[in-house]
Amino acid sequence: MTNDKAAATADSFDVIVIGGGPAGYPTAIRAAQNGLKVACIDEWKNHDGSAAFGGTCLNAGCIPSKALLESTELYHRAQAEFAAHGIRTSGVEMDVAAMQKRKSAIVRGMTQGILALFKGAGVTPLQGHGRLLRAQQVEFTPNEGGKRTLSARHVVLATGSVPVELKVAPFDGTRIIDSWGALELAAVPKRLGVIGAGVIGLELGSVWRRLGAQVTVLEALPDFLAIADQQLAREALKALKKTGLDIRMGARVTGAAVKGKEVAVTWLDAQNAAAGEQSLTVDTLIVAVGRRPFTDGLLADGTGVAVDERGFIKVDDHCRTGVEGVWAVGDVVRGPMLAHKGKEEGVMVADLIAGRYGHTNYEVIPSVIYTAPEIAWVGLTEEQVKKSGRPYKTGVFPFLASGRARAMEAAGGFAKVIADKADDTILGVHIIGPMAGELIAEAVLAMEYSASAEDLQRTIHAHPTLSEAVHEAALAADRRAIDSLNR
Ligand code: FAD
Ligand code: NAD
Repeated sequence: MTNDKAAATADSFDVIVIGGGPAGYPTAIRAAQNGLKVACIDEWKNHDGSAAFGGTCLNAGCIPSKALLESTELYHRAQAEFAAHGIRTSGVEMDVAAMQKRKSAIVRGMTQGILALFKGAGVTPLQGHGRLLRAQQVEFTPNEGGKRTLSARHVVLATGSVPVELKVAPFDGTRIIDSWGALELAAVPKRLGVIGAGVIGLELGSVWRRLGAQVTVLEALPDFLAIADQQLAREALKALKKTGLDIRMGARVTGAAVKGKEVAVTWLDAQNAAAGEQSLTVDTLIVAVGRRPFTDGLLADGTGVAVDERGFIKVDDHCRTGVEGVWAVGDVVRGPMLAHKGKEEGVMVADLIAGRYGHTNYEVIPSVIYTAPEIAWVGLTEEQVKKSGRPYKTGVFPFLASGRARAMEAAGGFAKVIADKADDTILGVHIIGPMAGELIAEAVLAMEYSASAEDLQRTIHAHPTLSEAVHEAALAADRRAIDSLNR
């Protein structure tokens, strides 16, 4: 079929979104809310061959990982903490199959929920592959076969990311696995190796550690959680090592070979180069060394959409690709690979397309690591502020002094507020402790409104709540904390 003929018979939309993950599906919904005619194309298929919207986040990322983190944390607490509350237990067992069944049911419910949301908003769901032919033209290959050429005034590319594969430890899908594989394990490996002490390594390492696996994490960098505030990172390393994670920093993996039911991993220890190559034998090896933007089969020749040297689609601050009517959002563009960042970009683009105001505040994107203790932050780290030369002050409040945290048997960690010394603006908030991921929302809101530490100080926080830790940390920045020694 020639392009002209295709155009004549094409289905036509105002907006076509390619990719139905947490960046793409909100784009489609907001565009439809704005009165536009919208289609969302997604090719995701689960291991059983079923198609599902929701992308990595709902099918193989945020949601299944949090389901497993919740189940395993409860199991761990039943064993390790109930006794402190006076609850006597015996014979607590984990039924891994039941845990996985629950997780799958949550994933199914959430992904099917997107279809319901699309129906409610009037978005046309198209399950199959999308390819940008040129501005305003998309080739759609449905899962069931055939091809259609669709047209749209605007096309939003939201094709996400996939795990990075290491040449020295290629995935075999059974013994050397990626994060999706690590979410699907049917049994607890006795010895689990994890390459990468990043977010995935720590979260999924924790899941299987809590179920009894002996977990060794090999991290190439010398500094733990190098992107985080280092006071927070130090506390996190201490706490996570205490949970039994064997975290080796400065460990550069040189090879991984599957031998029968084992994987032999070799690595070099930067802190002890003289020792030469080290080795480790595990039953399962998770490779979690980051993700790369996914644009395979997305762009026909000559679309004009530019991709940078790392594979990210180039965009400006408003996610415009530079080709009229073509936008890109989420993991496939620069910035942190986080679901909420992609969602915000998608909503911004859908509003801009409709001629409304749209903006993403990249300065105030929260990060959360859902380990126990939880780790969360927003804004600048102390190291970044120091480097900028800006005079600053910090306030730290330990959860040990929080009545609620003690009542919860979760009094480890702290909340830390960094503020400008001169004008008191909050520059960053860093929390490690119970519900840190929920607590950080207050700091995000405060920073979104350019609040000062004094604004937080003068805001009444209910007692006894964990949120008092943020309040007290703000007070501590001026050495005016009531419930701690202002150190
Ligand atoms: P994706 O979610 O990757 O979705 C892209 C979609 O586009 C996919 O469905 C894909 O099949 C489809 N697609 C690609 N190409 C085409 C094409 N040509 N045609 C049709 N469809 C196509 N982030 C958080 O914020 N919080 C968390 O707790 C969190 N936990 C995570 C845990 C794990 C184990 C992993 C792996 C990731 C986690 N993330 C988390 C990261 C989060 O999943 C991603 O940032 C997010 O999914 C990115 O959204 P996206 O829509 O840009 O891309
Ligand atoms: P990451 O970037 O968080 O961590 C990867 C780690 O692997 C880094 O510490 C890196 O130094 C290390 N590494 C890289 N190459 C290595 C090598 N050869 N040997 C040893 N270590 C090596 O990436 P990830 O953990 O794979 O997660 C991918 C993305 O998914 C992240 O961008 C993250 O934001 C997102 N994610 C977010 C959440 C969350 O928000 N809670 C959870 C999971 C994933």
